[in-house]
Amino acid sequence: MKSQANTKDGKRWSTAEAYLRPAMHRSNLDIAINTHVTKINFDGKKATGVTFIHGAEKKTVHVSKEVILSAGSIGSPHILMLSGVGPKDHLTKFNISTVADLPVGQHLQEHPGLMYPEFWLEKPLSVTLDMMNSWKASIQYNLFGKGPIAYQLFDTVGVLKTKAADPKRGLPDIQIQLMPMGLGFDTDEVVYNTLGLDRNFIKAYNFSEHKTRPVMTWVAILLHPKSVGEIRLQSSDALDPPEIDPNYFDDDSDVKSLVESIKISLQFAETKALKAIGVKLRDQIVPGCEKHEYKSDNYWDCAVRTVTATIYHPTGTCKMGAINDQTAVVDPQLRVRGVRGLRVADASIMPEIVSANTQATTVMVAEKAADMILSGA
Ligand SMILES: Cc1cc2nc3c(=O)[nH]c(=O)nc-3n(C[C@H](O)[C@H](O)[C@H](O)COP(=O)(O)OP(=O)(O)OC[C@H]3O[C@@H](n4cnc5c(N)ncnc54)[C@H](O)[C@@H]3O)c2cc1C
Repeated sequence: MKSQANTKDGKRWSTAEAYLRPAMHRSNLDIAINTHVTKINFDGKKATGVTFIHGAEKKTVHVSKEVILSAGSIGSPHILMLSGVGPKDHLTKFNISTVADLPVGQHLQEHPGLMYPEFWLEKPLSVTLDMMNSWKASIQYNLFGKGPIAYQLFDTVGVLKTKAADPKRGLPDIQIQLMPMGLGFDTDEVVYNTLGLDRNFIKAYNFSEHKTRPVMTWVAILLHPKSVGEIRLQSSDALDPPEIDPNYFDDDSDVKSLVESIKISLQFAETKALKAIGVKLRDQIVPGCEKHEYKSDNYWDCAVRTVTATIYHPTGTCKMGAINDQTAVVDPQLRVRGVRGLRVADASIMPEIVSANTQATTVMVAEKAADMILSGA
């Protein structure tokens, strides 16, 4: 299907634009920007407030009802552990006294994304750099919020159940997003930095032709990885980022699903519809995979391990579960187990990563949290 996106006037419309801006003048709301939360404070097992750094000052806000933590799947477990809510052994290593011994940070599920293979198009149906840099595109975007600059990165989306999908679960294992451009498009290196792609790899892979020639990239997202990662403290200093261990491809079946997605892409390129627009595989050896026979399973395996990056969908680090579920951090009302006056409401509570991009589900979590809080649940 065609991808759906939250956009307005050709721009992405964030939750800050949609929810916060319209509410920011309410008398019962204070928003502090450039502010770093360092700790949730407890009196025994009851959360009493939040300490944060604002500019050069350290401040504390006391709560009369409860603290609602929404710092995301990296930030929420980080703040909880700094505050004494986390695995006791781990906290003890950093001399943090334990308020509640919970598996915080331990169920990191992500969507690794393979940006491979790429296909040339005979017809000019994709977005090229020349098109984007034209006066016409600039006028279309600035006056009407339309044209190639307003184009969202991923044009088409679909889900697949490959041969490697777990038959017991019955879920699709791959989401395909077709990108009507190539990575060589990124002249400012924004995407390279965001994806953490190695400069030497980029140079060796020779993306220069992407700037002028129509290209389509097959982006395959692994929807339900068996490999599970973890967020850990590096120190007890709140300004030290936590350690993020995504643990990609710990389980070989994750690689197999992505290898199958490449094989499906080659079949897809052979269909009548794609042949009609002159789709042809870009026959460029992936740097580092030269030793394998081209198009063999070992070669595809190497390509998967080389051209995969994060899609930025971390979830599960403050997993929701039943009150007696020892792997859960929050209960079904999103209340942190074993303490009072503290909830988590963000992507970190997802017990199982969703078969889709994560933003809409996170908004649903927040809407549900708001309903539960208002109804006193
Ligand atoms: C580059 C990128 C592209 C994406 N594209 C898509 C997409 O196309 N579609 C889609 O569905 N999803 C997309 N996502 C994923 C989506 O943005 C996330 O699933 C969603 O934002 C998660 O919401 P959240 O509230 O859990 O966390 P976040 O949106 O990360 O919000 C957490 C907030 O807490 C703040 N914070 C963290 N720690 C602290 C602290 N100590 N003190 C103060 N503040 C703190 C952070 O600055 C942040 O503002 C994308 C993500 C990224 C990064």
